[in-house]
Amino acid sequence: MRGGNHVGQTILSPIGTDISCKNWETEALLRLFLNSLDPRVAENRQELIVYGGRGKAARNIESMKAIIDELRQLESDQTLLIQSGKPVGIFRTFPFSPRVISSSTMLVPKYATDEVFSKLESKGLMMYGQSTAASWAYIGVQGILQATFETMSEIANRNFNGSLKGKVILTSGLGGMGSAQPLSVTMNGGVCIVVEIDGSKIDKRLKNNYCDIKVDSLEEAIQLAKEAAEQGQSLSIALEGNAADVYAKVAEGEFTPDIATDQTAAHDILNGYIPSGVTLEQAIYLRRKRQKKYLELAGKSLVAHVDALVQIRKKGAIVFEYGNNLRGQAHNAGYKNAFSYPGFVSEYLRPLYCDGRGPCRWIALSGNPGDIYKIDDVLLTKFNHDKRVSRWIQFVQEKIYFYGLPARTCWLDFNERRQLGNIINNMVANGELSAPVAITRDHSEGSTMASPYRETEGMLDGSDAVADWPILNGLLNASAGSSMVSIQHGGGVGIGNSIHSGMTVVADGSIDAAKKLSNLLTIDPGLNIIRHADAGYEKANQTLHRLQLNKPL
Ligand code: NAD
Repeated sequence: MRGGNHVGQTILSPIGTDISCKNWETEALLRLFLNSLDPRVAENRQELIVYGGRGKAARNIESMKAIIDELRQLESDQTLLIQSGKPVGIFRTFPFSPRVISSSTMLVPKYATDEVFSKLESKGLMMYGQSTAASWAYIGVQGILQATFETMSEIANRNFNGSLKGKVILTSGLGGMGSAQPLSVTMNGGVCIVVEIDGSKIDKRLKNNYCDIKVDSLEEAIQLAKEAAEQGQSLSIALEGNAADVYAKVAEGEFTPDIATDQTAAHDILNGYIPSGVTLEQAIYLRRKRQKKYLELAGKSLVAHVDALVQIRKKGAIVFEYGNNLRGQAHNAGYKNAFSYPGFVSEYLRPLYCDGRGPCRWIALSGNPGDIYKIDDVLLTKFNHDKRVSRWIQFVQEKIYFYGLPARTCWLDFNERRQLGNIINNMVANGELSAPVAITRDHSEGSTMASPYRETEGMLDGSDAVADWPILNGLLNASAGSSMVSIQHGGGVGIGNSIHSGMTVVADGSIDAAKKLSNLLTIDPGLNIIRHADAGYEKANQTLHRLQLNKPL
């Protein structure tokens, strides 16, 4: 592998129309890679950690430098192979083949445990790729914002006449994903108390408008929350503290939130979860020097944490797990009753998957926010029949400011996704946008994630652990013209608990790009509907027949 001279430098994504790669397709992947590692975007740039515990975009600094160099040399008929964040080879393929294929954190099933993975990681043989970290599709908190917003809207629709006005949500975790919670609650009119142990994370979210105020005591948080709820005002309150302790107090006290959940990085106990009674500084020491002790303390804390949620539910709150395997970890630590409340996907998002609706994101490679606003305008006009889309675009235009490459995420239905690629590609071709645009997505989509404690929890036909679908998705996307395809393990819920795939395609305005976009933006929603129809969901079956997906597409 060719080396490079980037030691100690923070390399930001290039912007503008000059490119350092041999074509826009690889330039786009280079920009996405560097964007996910941009210190404004990544949670811990020094350690190449993008988000979600220790989710990384490259295995180490040498791999990061080599990826940059390889992408700059890559021809339009070559494919770069990335193995757990390290570039390992380049092969001659075809112009329609992916420019990058990547496999991260994959272990033979019998060996897929935290212990085996940690050993391999410490030997430098693997990295944890989370979901969008290893597939270079991370765009900051905004990436998960709409899924969180949709979850909160769905709770409001089912239980509170469509609004969270006057309702209080208790949650925790202000990390890369968790920070979407307070803003999603206030966007739905509610009040959020979010518990975070790391004061610097709270300050970062206050600065970025994801959260409104910071308090130090539960009493103050409850008082402010009650006042705001009584007045029908939306408010998000960050409470510095340990979620396990705070939830236990709430379980015992008089105050009951209307909704309670949690988004600490509990999928990775050692690196993402701070046990009750342990400070941040102590956690750093214990993790390094006394791992056994740390895991012991974490086990006790997780049991108390989940037990508190079970008690809060008994007091009348709506309680659900928010994608972090908290229940599974407490269950492993000996708490038998852990699965007495549901996960968020089976409860709130699956009906949307059955409709072919799923998360899509696009990134302006120019670095020019104006490109995103121009695409917003077209969507507001062309998709104005879809109130979900227009309401969302108007919300984010008002609430979100960009950091890193300007990007937008939006849940679109089958037909909208098919049209989106064409719309953006034409705008690039006509010169309406200042540079090409990358289109990608979350891994949390119907057919792209096999995850029995999250996306595929409680499938109608019992196919929760069947992981053929994300593999089919990845193989098909690689065959159909994507610019980058990645297959990963352990995202969201941790090692041993999920297998998933990512896809990125570049709209550079060319006729070839139009063909690729048409294929790829049909495959993702199409396979999503097929997977759910196959599992026996009537709604998916109806969508399948309405869209004639039972015939060749
Ligand atoms: P992150 O590592 O960036 O942040 C986790 C946060 O939790 C940190 O700020 C940490 O300080 C805080 N924390 C840890 N223990 C705590 C405790 N006991 N009390 C209070 N705060 C504590 O992780 P993230 O990217 O925000 O992801 C959070 C979890 O959600 C992960 O398990 C991730 O895998 C999962 N996830 C959820 C979704 C979703 O759609 N809901 C999507 C992807 C990932």
